[in-house]
Amino acid sequence: MNTYDVCIVGAGVVGCAIAKELMQRRWDRPLRVVVIELHDRVAEETSGRNSGVLHSGIHEHLHSLKGQLAREGSALAVSYASEHGIPLLRTGMVIAISWEDVRRGLWREVSALRRLLVNAWKTNTPVSFVTPSGLRAWEPNLRACCGIVIPSVSVIDPLAFVQSLKTDSEATGAEFAFNNRVIGIDEDAAAYIVTTDRQRIRAGCLINAAGLNADDIAALALRYKKYSICPVRGEYYELVSPEKKSLIGRLVYPALPPQATGKGIHFSPRPNGQLFVGPNEMAIQDKTDYTSRKTPPSVFVEALQKFLPTLEEGDLEWAYSGIRPCIMTGTGRKSDFIIAVDRENPPLINLIGIESPGLSAALAIAKHVAELLCVQKRFNPSRDRSPSSHDA
Ligand SMILES: Cc1cc2nc3c(=O)[nH]c(=O)nc-3n(C[C@H](O)[C@H](O)[C@H](O)COP(=O)(O)OP(=O)(O)OC[C@H]3O[C@@H](n4cnc5c(N)ncnc54)[C@H](O)[C@@H]3O)c2cc1C
Repeated sequence: MNTYDVCIVGAGVVGCAIAKELMQRRWDRPLRVVVIELHDRVAEETSGRNSGVLHSGIHEHLHSLKGQLAREGSALAVSYASEHGIPLLRTGMVIAISWEDVRRGLWREVSALRRLLVNAWKTNTPVSFVTPSGLRAWEPNLRACCGIVIPSVSVIDPLAFVQSLKTDSEATGAEFAFNNRVIGIDEDAAAYIVTTDRQRIRAGCLINAAGLNADDIAALALRYKKYSICPVRGEYYELVSPEKKSLIGRLVYPALPPQATGKGIHFSPRPNGQLFVGPNEMAIQDKTDYTSRKTPPSVFVEALQKFLPTLEEGDLEWAYSGIRPCIMTGTGRKSDFIIAVDRENPPLINLIGIESPGLSAALAIAKHVAELLCVQKRFNPSRDRSPSSHDA
Protein backbone atom coordinates (compact mmCIF):
# COMPACT_ATOMS: atom_id res chain seq x y z
CA MET A 1 0.00 0.00 0.00
CA ASN A 2 1.43 3.44 -1.00
CA THR A 3 1.70 5.99 1.80
CA TYR A 4 1.24 9.76 1.49
CA ASP A 5 1.07 12.79 3.75
CA VAL A 6 -1.99 14.16 1.95
CA CYS A 7 -4.66 12.52 -0.18
CA ILE A 8 -6.85 14.89 -2.20
CA VAL A 9 -10.04 13.44 -3.67
CA GLY A 10 -10.96 15.14 -6.98
CA ALA A 11 -8.89 16.55 -9.83
CA GLY A 12 -11.10 19.53 -10.59
CA VAL A 13 -9.79 23.06 -10.35
CA VAL A 14 -9.98 23.00 -6.54
CA GLY A 15 -8.16 19.68 -6.00
CA CYS A 16 -5.45 20.62 -8.51
CA ALA A 17 -5.03 24.12 -7.01
CA ILE A 18 -4.64 22.61 -3.52
CA ALA A 19 -2.05 20.12 -4.79
CA LYS A 20 -0.07 22.93 -6.43
CA GLU A 21 -0.26 25.13 -3.33
CA LEU A 22 0.86 22.35 -0.97
CA MET A 23 3.73 21.30 -3.24
CA GLN A 24 5.00 24.85 -3.62
CA ARG A 25 5.25 25.45 0.15
CA ARG A 26 8.47 24.56 1.93
CA TRP A 27 8.14 21.85 4.55
CA ASP A 28 10.59 20.18 6.95
CA ARG A 29 10.80 17.32 4.45
CA PRO A 30 9.38 16.75 0.96
CA LEU A 31 5.61 16.42 1.08
CA ARG A 32 4.00 13.33 -0.47
CA VAL A 33 0.69 14.28 -2.08
CA VAL A 34 -1.66 12.18 -4.21
CA VAL A 35 -4.75 13.38 -6.08
CA ILE A 36 -7.32 10.65 -6.71
CA GLU A 37 -9.70 11.13 -9.65
CA LEU A 38 -12.38 8.84 -11.03
CA HIS A 39 -12.05 10.07 -14.64
CA ASP A 40 -9.02 9.60 -16.88
CA ARG A 41 -8.08 13.30 -16.87
CA VAL A 42 -8.58 16.58 -14.98
CA ALA A 43 -11.64 18.86 -15.16
CA GLU A 44 -14.04 16.29 -16.59
CA GLU A 45 -16.89 17.50 -14.38
CA THR A 46 -17.89 21.03 -13.22
CA SER A 47 -14.44 22.58 -13.69
CA GLY A 48 -14.62 21.96 -17.44
CA ARG A 49 -18.29 22.94 -17.83
CA ASN A 50 -18.70 26.56 -16.80
CA SER A 51 -18.47 30.12 -18.16
CA GLY A 52 -14.81 30.63 -17.27
CA VAL A 53 -15.55 34.03 -15.71
CA LEU A 54 -13.10 35.30 -13.10
CA HIS A 55 -15.65 37.05 -10.94
CA SER A 56 -15.03 40.19 -8.89
CA GLY A 57 -17.01 38.79 -5.93
CA ILE A 58 -19.39 41.77 -5.76
CA HIS A 59 -22.41 39.58 -6.54
CA GLU A 60 -21.82 37.72 -3.25
CA HIS A 61 -22.55 38.71 0.35
CA LEU A 62 -19.84 41.04 1.54
CA HIS A 63 -18.23 38.89 4.21
CA SER A 64 -18.95 35.52 2.63
CA LEU A 65 -16.20 33.08 1.68
CA LYS A 66 -17.62 33.20 -1.85
CA GLY A 67 -17.07 36.95 -2.09
CA GLN A 68 -13.70 37.12 -0.34
CA LEU A 69 -12.16 34.09 -2.04
CA ALA A 70 -13.48 35.03 -5.51
CA ARG A 71 -11.98 38.50 -5.18
CA GLU A 72 -8.60 37.20 -4.02
CA GLY A 73 -8.64 34.12 -6.28
CA SER A 74 -9.51 36.01 -9.47
CA ALA A 75 -6.56 38.35 -8.98
CA LEU A 76 -4.28 35.34 -8.41
CA ALA A 77 -5.72 33.56 -11.46
CA VAL A 78 -5.13 36.54 -13.75
CA SER A 79 -1.46 36.69 -12.65
CA TYR A 80 -1.14 32.91 -12.96
CA ALA A 81 -2.66 32.94 -16.46
CA SER A 82 -0.33 35.73 -17.57
CA GLU A 83 2.73 33.90 -16.20
CA HIS A 84 1.75 30.55 -17.73
CA GLY A 85 0.41 31.70 -21.11
CA ILE A 86 -3.14 30.53 -20.36
CA PRO A 87 -5.71 32.09 -22.71
CA LEU A 88 -7.45 35.02 -21.01
CA LEU A 89 -10.05 37.37 -22.45
CA ARG A 90 -9.89 40.74 -20.71
CA THR A 91 -13.46 41.65 -21.52
CA GLY A 92 -14.79 43.44 -18.46
CA MET A 93 -18.36 42.76 -17.29
CA VAL A 94 -21.45 44.81 -18.08
CA ILE A 95 -24.48 44.37 -15.80
CA ALA A 96 -27.31 46.03 -17.67
CA ILE A 97 -30.92 47.10 -17.17
CA SER A 98 -32.98 46.85 -20.33
CA TRP A 99 -35.65 49.29 -21.53
CA GLU A 100 -38.23 46.49 -21.04
CA ASP A 101 -37.19 46.26 -17.39
CA VAL A 102 -37.73 50.00 -17.10
CA ARG A 103 -41.24 49.71 -18.55
CA ARG A 104 -42.05 46.92 -16.07
CA GLY A 105 -40.99 49.10 -13.12
CA LEU A 106 -37.39 49.55 -12.22
CA TRP A 107 -37.19 49.27 -8.49
CA ARG A 108 -36.07 45.64 -8.14
CA GLU A 109 -33.28 45.91 -10.69
CA VAL A 110 -32.17 49.31 -9.41
CA SER A 111 -31.92 48.00 -5.88
CA ALA A 112 -29.84 45.09 -7.24
CA LEU A 113 -27.46 47.50 -8.99
CA ARG A 114 -27.29 49.62 -5.85
CA ARG A 115 -26.30 46.57 -3.78
CA LEU A 116 -23.57 45.69 -6.30
CA LEU A 117 -22.26 49.26 -6.27
CA VAL A 118 -22.16 49.30 -2.46
CA ASN A 119 -20.33 45.94 -2.43
CA ALA A 120 -17.87 47.26 -5.01
CA TRP A 121 -17.28 50.41 -3.00
CA LYS A 122 -16.73 48.45 0.24
CA THR A 123 -14.28 46.06 -1.41
CA ASN A 124 -12.39 48.69 -3.44
CA THR A 125 -13.46 47.07 -6.71
CA PRO A 126 -13.38 49.61 -9.53
CA VAL A 127 -16.82 49.91 -11.16
CA SER A 128 -18.63 52.66 -12.97
CA PHE A 129 -22.30 53.46 -13.49
CA VAL A 130 -23.06 53.94 -17.19
CA THR A 131 -25.87 55.68 -19.10
CA PRO A 132 -27.10 54.53 -22.55
CA SER A 133 -24.38 56.50 -24.33
CA GLY A 134 -21.74 55.16 -21.91
CA LEU A 135 -22.97 51.63 -22.61
CA ARG A 136 -22.83 52.24 -26.36
CA ALA A 137 -19.20 53.28 -26.01
CA TRP A 138 -18.50 50.07 -24.10
CA GLU A 139 -20.58 47.65 -26.19
CA PRO A 140 -21.96 49.47 -29.28
CA ASN A 141 -24.73 47.00 -30.25
CA LEU A 142 -26.13 46.50 -26.78
CA ARG A 143 -29.62 47.89 -26.27
CA ALA A 144 -30.00 48.91 -22.64
CA CYS A 145 -31.07 51.80 -20.49
CA CYS A 146 -28.15 51.85 -18.04
CA GLY A 147 -25.90 49.56 -16.08
CA ILE A 148 -22.61 49.14 -14.33
CA VAL A 149 -19.28 48.13 -15.80
CA ILE A 150 -16.62 46.16 -13.91
CA PRO A 151 -13.54 46.57 -16.11
CA SER A 152 -11.32 44.11 -14.21
CA VAL A 153 -13.37 40.96 -14.99
CA SER A 154 -11.73 38.45 -17.36
CA VAL A 155 -12.64 35.11 -18.88
CA ILE A 156 -10.16 32.25 -18.60
CA ASP A 157 -9.91 28.99 -20.55
CA PRO A 158 -10.86 26.66 -17.65
CA LEU A 159 -9.42 23.49 -19.17
CA ALA A 160 -6.03 25.09 -19.86
CA PHE A 161 -6.10 26.54 -16.33
CA VAL A 162 -6.71 23.20 -14.59
CA GLN A 163 -4.29 21.35 -16.87
CA SER A 164 -1.58 23.87 -15.99
CA LEU A 165 -2.25 23.46 -12.25
CA LYS A 166 -1.84 19.71 -12.69
CA THR A 167 1.40 20.12 -14.65
CA ASP A 168 2.80 22.45 -11.95
CA SER A 169 1.81 20.02 -9.18
CA GLU A 170 3.40 17.07 -10.94
CA ALA A 171 6.57 19.03 -11.68
CA THR A 172 6.99 19.58 -7.94
CA GLY A 173 6.31 15.94 -7.02
CA ALA A 174 2.55 15.45 -6.61
CA GLU A 175 1.11 12.20 -7.97
CA PHE A 176 -2.20 11.78 -9.79
CA ALA A 177 -4.16 8.52 -9.71
CA PHE A 178 -6.69 8.70 -12.57
CA ASN A 179 -9.41 6.13 -13.26
CA ASN A 180 -9.67 5.59 -9.48
CA ARG A 181 -13.07 5.96 -7.84
CA VAL A 182 -12.99 6.32 -4.06
CA ILE A 183 -15.36 3.71 -2.65
CA GLY A 184 -14.30 3.37 0.99
CA ILE A 185 -12.54 5.35 3.72
CA ASP A 186 -11.32 3.93 7.03
CA GLU A 187 -9.05 5.45 9.59
CA ASP A 188 -6.71 4.43 12.34
CA ALA A 189 -5.09 6.66 14.96
CA ALA A 190 -2.61 8.21 12.52
CA ALA A 191 -3.96 7.93 8.98
CA TYR A 192 -6.80 7.34 6.53
CA ILE A 193 -6.96 4.19 4.46
CA VAL A 194 -8.59 5.24 1.19
CA THR A 195 -9.95 2.42 -0.93
CA THR A 196 -10.59 2.98 -4.63
CA ASP A 197 -11.88 0.49 -7.19
CA ARG A 198 -8.21 -0.19 -8.06
CA GLN A 199 -6.03 0.18 -4.97
CA ARG A 200 -5.71 1.15 -1.31
CA ILE A 201 -3.57 4.02 -0.11
CA ARG A 202 -2.64 5.35 3.32
CA ALA A 203 -2.61 9.12 3.96
CA GLY A 204 -1.99 11.21 7.05
CA CYS A 205 -4.53 13.78 5.95
CA LEU A 206 -7.60 13.69 3.70
CA ILE A 207 -8.85 16.63 1.64
CA ASN A 208 -12.24 16.14 0.05
CA ALA A 209 -12.53 18.22 -3.15
CA ALA A 210 -14.92 15.84 -4.88
CA GLY A 211 -17.32 18.50 -6.20
CA LEU A 212 -20.76 16.99 -6.83
CA ASN A 213 -19.83 13.89 -4.80
CA ALA A 214 -18.23 15.75 -1.89
CA ASP A 215 -21.25 14.99 0.31
CA ASP A 216 -20.83 11.24 -0.33
CA ILE A 217 -17.06 11.32 0.27
CA ALA A 218 -17.66 13.24 3.54
CA ALA A 219 -20.20 10.60 4.57
CA LEU A 220 -17.69 7.79 3.86
CA ALA A 221 -15.07 9.52 6.01
CA LEU A 222 -17.38 10.64 8.84
CA ARG A 223 -19.66 7.56 8.80
CA TYR A 224 -22.78 9.72 8.75
CA LYS A 225 -24.44 12.02 6.20
CA LYS A 226 -23.48 15.50 7.36
CA TYR A 227 -23.97 17.29 4.01
CA SER A 228 -26.43 16.98 1.16
CA ILE A 229 -25.61 18.47 -2.24
CA CYS A 230 -28.43 19.65 -4.52
CA PRO A 231 -27.38 19.43 -8.17
CA VAL A 232 -28.45 22.46 -10.24
CA ARG A 233 -27.86 22.23 -13.99
CA GLY A 234 -26.85 25.21 -16.12
CA GLU A 235 -27.15 24.90 -19.92
CA TYR A 236 -25.46 26.80 -22.74
CA TYR A 237 -26.24 27.43 -26.38
CA GLU A 238 -23.62 28.70 -28.79
CA LEU A 239 -24.41 31.76 -30.89
CA VAL A 240 -23.32 30.42 -34.27
CA SER A 241 -24.65 33.07 -36.66
CA PRO A 242 -21.41 34.79 -37.83
CA GLU A 243 -22.88 38.29 -38.26
CA LYS A 244 -24.79 38.29 -34.94
CA LYS A 245 -21.87 36.75 -33.06
CA SER A 246 -19.80 39.77 -34.02
CA LEU A 247 -22.34 42.12 -32.39
CA ILE A 248 -21.39 41.28 -28.78
CA GLY A 249 -17.79 41.10 -27.61
CA ARG A 250 -18.03 41.37 -23.83
CA LEU A 251 -19.64 39.68 -20.88
CA VAL A 252 -23.16 41.08 -20.62
CA TYR A 253 -25.24 40.10 -17.58
CA PRO A 254 -28.76 41.19 -16.67
CA ALA A 255 -29.36 43.10 -13.44
CA LEU A 256 -31.50 40.72 -11.41
CA PRO A 257 -33.65 41.40 -8.37
CA PRO A 258 -31.80 40.82 -5.06
CA GLN A 259 -33.69 37.59 -4.28
CA ALA A 260 -32.50 35.93 -7.54
CA THR A 261 -30.48 32.75 -6.87
CA GLY A 262 -28.00 33.06 -9.74
CA LYS A 263 -26.32 35.75 -11.82
CA GLY A 264 -28.63 35.25 -14.78
CA ILE A 265 -28.45 34.12 -18.41
CA HIS A 266 -25.73 36.19 -20.03
CA PHE A 267 -23.69 36.66 -23.19
CA SER A 268 -20.61 34.56 -22.49
CA PRO A 269 -17.65 35.20 -24.81
CA ARG A 270 -14.58 32.95 -24.62
CA PRO A 271 -10.87 33.53 -25.24
CA ASN A 272 -11.00 31.42 -28.44
CA GLY A 273 -13.62 33.71 -30.03
CA GLN A 274 -16.72 31.55 -29.38
CA LEU A 275 -19.80 33.23 -27.95
CA PHE A 276 -22.29 31.33 -25.78
CA VAL A 277 -25.53 32.25 -24.07
CA GLY A 278 -26.43 30.78 -20.68
CA PRO A 279 -26.46 29.34 -18.14
CA ASN A 280 -29.97 28.85 -16.80
CA GLU A 281 -30.69 27.12 -13.46
CA MET A 282 -32.54 23.81 -13.36
CA ALA A 283 -32.72 21.69 -10.20
CA ILE A 284 -32.14 18.03 -11.11
CA GLN A 285 -32.11 14.73 -9.22
CA ASP A 286 -29.24 12.89 -10.90
CA LYS A 287 -25.76 14.38 -10.49
CA THR A 288 -24.73 12.99 -13.89
CA ASP A 289 -27.74 14.22 -15.88
CA TYR A 290 -26.27 16.70 -18.38
CA THR A 291 -28.75 16.33 -21.22
CA SER A 292 -32.23 15.02 -20.39
CA ARG A 293 -35.12 17.49 -20.75
CA LYS A 294 -32.95 20.11 -22.49
CA THR A 295 -34.28 23.64 -22.09
CA PRO A 296 -35.44 24.94 -25.50
CA PRO A 297 -33.51 27.80 -27.14
CA SER A 298 -36.58 30.05 -26.92
CA VAL A 299 -35.91 30.47 -23.17
CA PHE A 300 -32.45 31.87 -23.88
CA VAL A 301 -33.70 34.09 -26.72
CA GLU A 302 -36.40 35.47 -24.44
CA ALA A 303 -33.83 36.24 -21.73
CA LEU A 304 -31.44 38.11 -24.03
CA GLN A 305 -33.52 39.55 -26.89
CA LYS A 306 -34.12 42.62 -24.74
CA PHE A 307 -30.39 43.38 -25.11
CA LEU A 308 -30.00 42.20 -28.72
CA PRO A 309 -33.40 42.46 -30.46
CA THR A 310 -32.24 40.65 -33.61
CA LEU A 311 -31.39 37.46 -31.67
CA GLU A 312 -33.45 34.48 -32.91
CA GLU A 313 -33.72 30.79 -32.09
CA GLY A 314 -32.09 29.88 -35.41
CA ASP A 315 -28.91 31.68 -34.31
CA LEU A 316 -28.38 29.24 -31.43
CA GLU A 317 -27.04 25.68 -31.30
CA TRP A 318 -27.07 23.45 -28.21
CA ALA A 319 -23.56 23.46 -26.73
CA TYR A 320 -23.14 21.86 -23.28
CA SER A 321 -24.23 21.96 -19.66
CA GLY A 322 -22.58 21.92 -16.25
CA ILE A 323 -23.94 21.01 -12.83
CA ARG A 324 -23.48 23.21 -9.77
CA PRO A 325 -22.94 21.34 -6.47
CA CYS A 326 -25.23 23.55 -4.38
CA ILE A 327 -25.93 23.41 -0.66
CA MET A 328 -29.24 25.00 0.25
CA THR A 329 -29.99 26.84 3.48
CA GLY A 330 -33.18 26.27 5.46
CA THR A 331 -34.73 29.28 3.70
CA GLY A 332 -34.12 27.81 0.25
CA ARG A 333 -31.18 30.06 -0.60
CA LYS A 334 -27.78 28.81 -1.75
CA SER A 335 -25.33 28.50 1.11
CA ASP A 336 -21.83 29.93 1.23
CA PHE A 337 -18.87 27.65 0.45
CA ILE A 338 -18.24 25.22 3.31
CA ILE A 339 -14.55 24.60 3.99
CA ALA A 340 -14.48 22.68 7.24
CA VAL A 341 -11.96 20.76 9.32
CA ASP A 342 -14.43 18.03 10.21
CA ARG A 343 -11.90 15.88 12.05
CA GLU A 344 -8.56 16.84 13.55
CA ASN A 345 -7.09 13.45 14.23
CA PRO A 346 -6.22 12.48 11.56
CA PRO A 347 -7.08 15.75 9.75
CA LEU A 348 -10.08 15.73 7.40
CA ILE A 349 -10.94 18.87 5.42
CA ASN A 350 -14.23 18.86 3.52
CA LEU A 351 -14.93 21.34 0.71
CA ILE A 352 -18.68 21.34 0.17
CA GLY A 353 -20.93 23.43 -2.07
CA ILE A 354 -18.08 24.82 -4.18
CA GLU A 355 -20.40 26.11 -6.91
CA SER A 356 -19.97 29.44 -8.69
CA PRO A 357 -17.67 31.37 -8.21
CA GLY A 358 -15.49 28.34 -7.36
CA LEU A 359 -13.38 28.59 -10.51
CA SER A 360 -12.53 32.20 -9.68
CA ALA A 361 -11.86 31.35 -6.05
CA ALA A 362 -9.78 28.19 -6.57
CA LEU A 363 -6.29 29.60 -5.99
CA ALA A 364 -7.46 31.44 -2.87
CA ILE A 365 -9.34 28.36 -1.64
CA ALA A 366 -6.06 26.44 -1.98
CA LYS A 367 -4.21 28.98 0.19
CA HIS A 368 -7.01 28.87 2.75
CA VAL A 369 -6.89 25.06 2.90
CA ALA A 370 -3.07 25.05 3.20
CA GLU A 371 -3.32 27.47 6.14
CA LEU A 372 -5.95 25.25 7.80
CA LEU A 373 -3.65 22.27 7.36
CA CYS A 374 -0.61 24.03 8.79
CA VAL A 375 -2.30 24.62 12.13
CA GLN A 376 -3.37 20.98 12.56
CA LYS A 377 -1.30 19.55 15.43
CA ARG A 378 -1.56 16.07 13.96
CA PHE A 379 -0.31 17.07 10.53
CA ASN A 380 3.16 15.71 9.78
CA PRO A 381 5.55 16.86 8.28
CA SER A 382 4.46 19.66 10.49
CA ARG A 383 5.88 22.98 9.54
CA ASP A 384 5.46 25.05 6.42
CA ARG A 385 8.61 27.13 5.98
CA SER A 386 7.35 29.29 3.11
CA PRO A 387 8.28 32.95 3.49
CA SER A 388 4.66 33.94 2.90
CA SER A 389 3.19 31.56 5.48
CA HIS A 390 1.88 32.56 8.88
CA ASP A 391 4.78 31.01 10.80
CA ALA A 392 7.59 32.16 8.53
C1 LIG B 1 -23.04 26.16 -15.42
C2 LIG B 1 -21.92 26.61 -14.51
C3 LIG B 1 -21.29 27.82 -14.72
C4 LIG B 1 -20.27 28.24 -13.88
N1 LIG B 1 -19.61 29.40 -14.16
C5 LIG B 1 -18.60 29.80 -13.36
C6 LIG B 1 -17.88 30.97 -13.66
O1 LIG B 1 -18.09 31.60 -14.69
N2 LIG B 1 -16.92 31.37 -12.80
C7 LIG B 1 -16.66 30.69 -11.65
O2 LIG B 1 -15.82 31.13 -10.87
N3 LIG B 1 -17.29 29.52 -11.37
C8 LIG B 1 -18.24 29.06 -12.20
N4 LIG B 1 -18.88 27.89 -11.94
C9 LIG B 1 -18.49 27.12 -10.75
C10 LIG B 1 -17.20 26.33 -10.98
O3 LIG B 1 -17.22 25.66 -12.20
C11 LIG B 1 -17.03 25.35 -9.82
O4 LIG B 1 -17.15 26.04 -8.60
C12 LIG B 1 -15.70 24.63 -9.83
O5 LIG B 1 -15.42 24.09 -11.09
C13 LIG B 1 -15.69 23.53 -8.78
O6 LIG B 1 -14.48 22.83 -8.89
P1 LIG B 1 -14.22 21.55 -8.02
O7 LIG B 1 -12.81 21.15 -8.26
O8 LIG B 1 -14.65 21.80 -6.62
O9 LIG B 1 -15.25 20.46 -8.56
P2 LIG B 1 -15.17 19.50 -9.85
O10 LIG B 1 -14.66 20.19 -11.03
O11 LIG B 1 -16.52 18.87 -9.94
O12 LIG B 1 -14.10 18.42 -9.44
C14 LIG B 1 -14.40 17.37 -8.55
C15 LIG B 1 -13.70 16.13 -9.06
O13 LIG B 1 -13.90 15.07 -8.12
C16 LIG B 1 -14.01 13.87 -8.85
N5 LIG B 1 -14.70 12.87 -8.02
C17 LIG B 1 -15.97 12.91 -7.59
N6 LIG B 1 -16.25 11.80 -6.88
C18 LIG B 1 -15.12 11.05 -6.86
C19 LIG B 1 -14.79 9.77 -6.31
N7 LIG B 1 -15.69 9.04 -5.60
N8 LIG B 1 -13.55 9.30 -6.50
C20 LIG B 1 -12.62 10.01 -7.21
N9 LIG B 1 -12.90 11.22 -7.76
C21 LIG B 1 -14.12 11.74 -7.59
C22 LIG B 1 -14.84 14.27 -10.07
O14 LIG B 1 -14.68 13.36 -11.13
C23 LIG B 1 -14.28 15.65 -10.39
O15 LIG B 1 -13.28 15.61 -11.37
C24 LIG B 1 -19.89 27.44 -12.78
C25 LIG B 1 -20.50 26.19 -12.59
C26 LIG B 1 -21.49 25.76 -13.45
C27 LIG B 1 -22.12 24.43 -13.27
